Amino acid sequence: MDKRFIYADNAATTKVSREVIDAMLPYFTVHYGNASSIYAMGRDAKKAIETARDKVAGALGCESREIYFTSCGSEADNWAIRGICETLSAKGKNHIITSVFEHHAILHTCQALEKKGFDVTYIPVDENGLIDPQDIKKAITPKTALVSIMYANNEIGTIQPISEIGSICKEAGVLFHTDAVQAVGHVHIDVKEQNIDLLSLSGHKIHAQKGIGALYIRKGINIPNLIFGGAQERNRRAGTENVPAIVGLGVAIEEAVKDIDARAEKITKLRNRLIDGILTLPRTRLNGDRDKRLPGNCNISIEGVEGESLLLMLDMAGICASSGSACTSGSLDPSHVLLAIGLRHEVAHGSLRLSIDESTTDEDVDYILEVLPPIVKRLRDMSPLWETINKQ
Ligand code: PLP
Repeated sequence: MDKRFIYADNAATTKVSREVIDAMLPYFTVHYGNASSIYAMGRDAKKAIETARDKVAGALGCESREIYFTSCGSEADNWAIRGICETLSAKGKNHIITSVFEHHAILHTCQALEKKGFDVTYIPVDENGLIDPQDIKKAITPKTALVSIMYANNEIGTIQPISEIGSICKEAGVLFHTDAVQAVGHVHIDVKEQNIDLLSLSGHKIHAQKGIGALYIRKGINIPNLIFGGAQERNRRAGTENVPAIVGLGVAIEEAVKDIDARAEKITKLRNRLIDGILTLPRTRLNGDRDKRLPGNCNISIEGVEGESLLLMLDMAGICASSGSACTSGSLDPSHVLLAIGLRHEVAHGSLRLSIDESTTDEDVDYILEVLPPIVKRLRDMSPLWETINKQ
């Protein structure tokens, strides 16, 4: 088969769609006014922001005034956790519940709060990468300020029982935040039905540009600003609005939730072919639950290979993939997510994440399944450990 270029790292970031670019362009060159300005060009920009807000709210099942634009998913996560903790610590609540395998935007924020005297409970996940909601119920105390559990994991794609966790939190009178950066546009979300109080999302995972996100804050929740300054975002998040990016996010989320089921079905079929094809290699293991996972996520440990070398060889074959979270690449520490589901260090090191999207074709899957086995064989042949591993 001829060499192809295959982008299979959509969990790291996505290509900006044509629709998004076309919608954004006029806000660079025609309606480029500051949304706070009084003249028509400023009012145009303001109107475009409000239209985008309506679209984001429509996708999440909330009111537009409950959506606040941020500079990224990480900012939304930081704001949610630090904001709620600041408000509720004044009322003696200084306990946070999260999980061991959250994105670092959550984990590092919690660790920073621990240094300031907060108690954090890190809920474990099982070997399939799922949280038991009963563990959360048991961990809640009268001092719990917030439960923050990710909707879907960025590395292994597992989708958590968010509605159940939402009910538990509601019953206990504890606020519930979810980092839905990987889930938005891939699974049906309804923040009201699911009792979600705060939700973070990010544009660049759904074909909008990098550097735009949003936080849903249920009305009535008191959360101090993370960024102080002007009166943007109804006085709650200062900074001149990034109008083109906000417009793009609105279009991207609208596109993402449109035909969500048909898209998920198509991508899931391709993903299953990938998973089944790779698992025919000896000493491989699927990471994360087979069914409760994002449509495009395939994460497999391949014993006897080293993740970085695998990625480089795949790159030479025209395939963009990842061996964990892009945020941690460059570090030699094994992924905290793979360790959390019980993988040994050396197995975690040899993991491959392929995250496909609606543009992936059957031929792309055929190509990956043709190219990967000889690469694995070469790496195993070169590995001083493979013989020993294979005998175990
Ligand atoms: N949360 C999750 C689950 C993510 O996957 C990411 C990005 O990879 C983030 C948060 C951070 O989002 P952003 O890159 O927009 O800051």
